[in-house]
Amino acid sequence: MDKRFDVVVIGGGPAGSTVAALVAEQGFRTLLLEREPTPAFKVGESLMPATYWTFKRLGVLDRLGASAFVRKHSVQFFGGSGKASAPFYFSENDPRDCSVTWQVLRSEFDRLLLDNARDKGAEIVQGAMVLDVLFDGERATGVRARLPDKQVVEIEASVTVDASGQSALIARRLRVKATEPTLKKASVFTHFRGGVRDDGIDEGATLILHTQNKDSWFWYIPLPDDRVSVGVVGDLDYLLQSRKGLDDDEIFAEELAKCLPMQERLAPARQLFPAKVTKDFSYRADRIAGDGWVLVGDAFGFLDPVYSSGVLLALQSGEMAADTICAALRDGDTSADRLGAFGPEFTRGMEAVRKLVYAFYTRDFSFARFLKAHPHCKQGIVDILSGNLTADSVGEVFQPMGEMCELPEDMEL
Ligand SMILES: Cc1cc2nc3c(=O)[nH]c(=O)nc-3n(C[C@H](O)[C@H](O)[C@H](O)COP(=O)(O)OP(=O)(O)OC[C@H]3O[C@@H](n4cnc5c(N)ncnc54)[C@H](O)[C@@H]3O)c2cc1C
Repeated sequence: MDKRFDVVVIGGGPAGSTVAALVAEQGFRTLLLEREPTPAFKVGESLMPATYWTFKRLGVLDRLGASAFVRKHSVQFFGGSGKASAPFYFSENDPRDCSVTWQVLRSEFDRLLLDNARDKGAEIVQGAMVLDVLFDGERATGVRARLPDKQVVEIEASVTVDASGQSALIARRLRVKATEPTLKKASVFTHFRGGVRDDGIDEGATLILHTQNKDSWFWYIPLPDDRVSVGVVGDLDYLLQSRKGLDDDEIFAEELAKCLPMQERLAPARQLFPAKVTKDFSYRADRIAGDGWVLVGDAFGFLDPVYSSGVLLALQSGEMAADTICAALRDGDTSADRLGAFGPEFTRGMEAVRKLVYAFYTRDFSFARFLKAHPHCKQGIVDILSGNLTADSVGEVFQPMGEMCELPEDMEL
């Protein structure tokens, strides 16, 4: 294997595969190292409609269209009383194909994107663990990695892209990663087979269901092969710390007992594997690039699962970073300023989701009441839920929303 590349990408999730595909396509020598020998189970299965545009650019729409992934036309919210809001159909906002998206099995989805990066000319090594990012002073110069044959090698690159997800190798090493104290959440999740689905185009809807008292909420994401992904999210203290004696399945069952519509959907279903837990997943780095390095996807930051924005942000940051990297390499300037040029636009979109996440967790805030008082904000909310995060309408939402609930200040880069 060569030891010198233009770009080395750490991690083969959606963010890493997107950068690798788009940079390699432009003729730059690109290496992607992924620690898993084959794509493994991952949570994060529901997509947002605006992912369509990155898929189009990557050239994977046909492969997605031919897949067994479930079509997602809508999202529907249930209150603590069990009462459902009307489903929100993305096509009401935009009748084009881009309003139908997918609910994916992540192992298959990640494989599809990795294969695409390979087809576009990136060298992909699976089963290769990046042990460290190499620096010469402030400048990243490549990585040290353990290859599948256990050999430890040093690989040089003009640009090192950290797409390592929650491992966030560079942000941890440089101590530029900050957790969001107000979003100190945890989640317990698993898959079932045979849950109740609605009919027709509602079959693939994402459901977001509050438990009684709104202490936690469930997601219900229909997947291929009659599977459904179900998880519960709540404050870390509430969900896990206060129940130290219980195992993960017992915690899941305790929350399920507080959510009647979810119980009804799961009554005929069979659980496929023991519940898994993840916690402390809300954080963000305060830099997106440095000399010779760039952060994309969860390696830069992750907000919260409620609006299914994680994969969208991974794809969008991957796409924007790829364009910035190609321009920087062409000009022979891979300084922090050049590589971070996409940061302000990307974080503007991310901040919009972040504010809407805060609104969702404000107990006495109601989107229905907000929209009744400010009907002109509907378009902005719809655009955020669809993933059109930099649409003009989005900017109009937060001043009036800030009068009805406490919203965070924008995080600086
Ligand atoms: C509870 C929960 C529910 C979620 N639900 C949704 C949802 O419904 N919809 C949605 O869009 N998002 C959801 N997300 C978020 C979503 O999973 C992530 O945002 C998304 O996977 C980020 O993509 P990524 O490519 O940045 O990182 P990842 O998909 O995590 O990929 C990172 C890759 O890097 C590899 N890696 C890590 N360290 C190394 C190393 N040292 N060397 C080599 N390889 C390495 C990993 O194996 C992995 O394949 C959810 C998140 C949580 C916590």
